[in-house]
Amino acid sequence: MQSKLPSHTEYVIVGGGIIGLSIAYHLTRLGHRDVLLLERDQLTCGTTWHAAGLVTQLRSNENMAKLAQYSAELFRDLEQLTGQPTGFRQSGSITIASTVSRMEELRRGSSMGRSFGLEVEMIDAAEAQRRVPLLDITDVLGAAWIASDGMTNPIDTARAFAAGARSGGAKILERSQVTRIVVEKGRFLGVETAEGLVRAEKAVICTGLWSRNVAADLNWTVPLHAAEHFYIVTEAIPGLPTDLPTIRDMDGKVYAKPDAGKLLVGFFETHAKPWGIDGIPRDFSFDSLPEDFDHIEPYLAAAIARMPALAHVGLQLNFNGPESFTPDNRFLLGPAPDIAGLFVATGFNSCGIESSGGAGKVMAEWMSTGVPANDYWEMDVRRAMPFQRNRKYLYDRTKEAVGNLWNLHWPHKSPRTAREVRVSPLHDRLAQAGANFGEVAGWERVQWFGPNDSAPASHATFTRDEWFGQSGEEHDATRSGVALFDQTSFAHLLVQGNDALALLQRLSSNDIDVPVGRIVYTPWLNERGGMESDVTIARIGDEEFLIVTAAVQRIRDLAWLRMHAKGAGNVAVTDVSSGYATLSVMGPRSRELLARVSPADFSEANFPFATAREIEIGYGLALAFRMTFVGELGWEFHVPTEQTLGIYDALVAAGRDLDLRHAGYVALNTLRLEAGYRDWGSDVGDEDSPLESGLGFTVAWNKAEDFIGRAALEAQRGKTPRRRLVQLAVSGAAPLMFGTEPVWRNGTLVGYLRSAGFGHTVGCGIGMGYLNAETGVSPQWLSDGTFEIEIAGERYPAVASLKGFYDAGRTRVKGEWHKAEDLVSFELRAAFSAKPADR
Ligand SMILES: Cc1cc2nc3c(=O)[nH]c(=O)nc-3n(C[C@H](O)[C@H](O)[C@H](O)COP(=O)(O)OP(=O)(O)OC[C@H]3O[C@@H](n4cnc5c(N)ncnc54)[C@H](O)[C@@H]3O)c2cc1C
Repeated sequence: MQSKLPSHTEYVIVGGGIIGLSIAYHLTRLGHRDVLLLERDQLTCGTTWHAAGLVTQLRSNENMAKLAQYSAELFRDLEQLTGQPTGFRQSGSITIASTVSRMEELRRGSSMGRSFGLEVEMIDAAEAQRRVPLLDITDVLGAAWIASDGMTNPIDTARAFAAGARSGGAKILERSQVTRIVVEKGRFLGVETAEGLVRAEKAVICTGLWSRNVAADLNWTVPLHAAEHFYIVTEAIPGLPTDLPTIRDMDGKVYAKPDAGKLLVGFFETHAKPWGIDGIPRDFSFDSLPEDFDHIEPYLAAAIARMPALAHVGLQLNFNGPESFTPDNRFLLGPAPDIAGLFVATGFNSCGIESSGGAGKVMAEWMSTGVPANDYWEMDVRRAMPFQRNRKYLYDRTKEAVGNLWNLHWPHKSPRTAREVRVSPLHDRLAQAGANFGEVAGWERVQWFGPNDSAPASHATFTRDEWFGQSGEEHDATRSGVALFDQTSFAHLLVQGNDALALLQRLSSNDIDVPVGRIVYTPWLNERGGMESDVTIARIGDEEFLIVTAAVQRIRDLAWLRMHAKGAGNVAVTDVSSGYATLSVMGPRSRELLARVSPADFSEANFPFATAREIEIGYGLALAFRMTFVGELGWEFHVPTEQTLGIYDALVAAGRDLDLRHAGYVALNTLRLEAGYRDWGSDVGDEDSPLESGLGFTVAWNKAEDFIGRAALEAQRGKTPRRRLVQLAVSGAAPLMFGTEPVWRNGTLVGYLRSAGFGHTVGCGIGMGYLNAETGVSPQWLSDGTFEIEIAGERYPAVASLKGFYDAGRTRVKGEWHKAEDLVSFELRAAFSAKPADR
């Protein structure tokens, strides 16, 4: 029998759910004909067939929002484009709030939506009931209305993608299981099936629930786990309006959509039921899971309380089906870090239908060109840490992941489950000192220090909770005295060999050819001049460099280094992160403290800014970096892991009478915001060039070696950028800002904040974000404008500046002494007479 499979194809897509089909469709839209999709059983037989089909667009960042908005727009036209009806109806959505905090979250969300171009209208309870007469509004405080949201039929929508892909030339084969993904020398080679090997240039894994295991066979971490997901469908409800919008009651954890005269009501339970830890059955196809009435009963009761008509109708269907959830509730898109040509698109956390159009487009572009069209870091699979393919970790986190989608996202909230996976050697000492830990990349990191054994952040509020005062004191101590930060979550990468310098010169826009003992902060750019990463590189030998990068950037940076090290001659790249802990001693009295624990000379002349050297400290040795991320005199100590406790104890003992203060990451963030330091992943990313983000000083135009992204930067050089990162501030009396707040100039929306916090030294709410101007964002454009920042629907007068609001001359960093009040920017003082008393 002749095989139906080709021996070679350009693109192979593994999995025929809505995501794989959308990628196939979008690849053909880009003009690719040589596209093969292989489905284990029948199209949509995994999760897609049983989805509820709600289509909503409000997301937490701009590019995710655009992805959802594109999906909704595409669904409107998909039938016409493919000839296959989809069942899409743009009937709007209504999200109600019955608690003060939820109302605040909705108001903030509606402001955010506006900044991303999505029309979100806040309406009162009576208007909500007018639009949805079913609702009991006794406790409703208000609602958000999005007219462009809607609902679709998942199977028909997937079929439309299939029809469009086929007519564009793609081959879609059912009952064609991929049994192995073949990789050779770090490159994807092809896929194996019962009928043999299909060689291909590029592949994407879209295997939904099965994806963790497919990737784990390649030692690749794609962290997701299935959870049971429940909805019911009622019998016909007499008089149910046919044009009802979809309904979401996030406080009750209930959603509903009209379904041919009936109601489909689904739940996001607080304690979910993970499923399939031992693997997804091979023959699981158009299957459902057993009902569990006891489990959904409290949520059904909440649904009845919200829509009393439900009490008088019978149930036609009590459905339970599995869906994939990720540890941080974000999708998993993008390339395998160590396997060229292999991609993934999975982990949709109950949003796979409404995201399918955008995810398909994003992935088709990414696979086609090799680079994402926009900054999708939020969803990028390279954020996954290797330990995250541990199944017990995934199982335990998934209990919480379903509810977390709709739990309130209050400031500094961290997951409760599967914690203490990665801990600093100081963990217990810090806990005794009152540390309140949050989680980043599996690390327990101190957010702030409270009283001894203080409880984790658990207050569902956007106002000045415990963390505000505590971190404010840490902030002040760093400015006025000396503070100790545990930054052990930093990743450390060693690059060695005769060609190490050449490699780093090619990757870095700054000049790395510095004397041994110098430190360079540099972006790593992509070809379009965007910042793939930013790192600190210490030259610790003629042919040896230690790279320090953020915890979340570890896998991405390592992959970038290794990819470019291939064929770059004699160069070895080693991840030595677990070998180092990092203690940072920051503040004007840091020198005084260090003199007590180390014989090293920390004077300006002997240990100037941006230098590194080995020093003796306590009974140990440390690699000391004269660096700061808080805008103060200070040193980072990179110490062998096993010496950390001793060195910490020595510092704490010596610092007792200097009022050495323990400080956490909330203070670190507010300190760096005041000083105007950029945070990669928030303020800068792979779409933002150093020239747009005010990091022009990191571009060594005169270095002899070419570097990636140089041509793109040359094209921007000398021009006033049309978008530029700007620092903004509002009065200390305004509500707190956390990032994504819209920025208005002369009544026109010109951008939004990428990150924000409270500047305790300047006494104002501060943030930074890219502003846009056709004529260019120049100092003149800033000084001519009247700025406002929208916070939870209200606009507040704002000051805009190209410089940081605290010590723009970096005098403190250079070790000079001036009173902190005198270092607050003049324009801020003039605008708000900012003083710490405003707190
Ligand atoms: C009860 C419920 C309600 C939901 N409601 C909504 C909603 O209202 N809105 C929304 O946006 N989302 C909703 N979702 C989520 C949505 O259904 C999913 O996110 C989406 O279907 C995921 O699509 P997928 O293509 O990634 O996965 P799947 O549809 O599971 O597709 C994966 C495919 O890969 C195939 N496969 C696996 N292994 C192999 C292999 N080795 N070789 C070849 N093929 C293979 C499988 O057979 C399967 O067909 C809901 C989910 C559930 C469970």
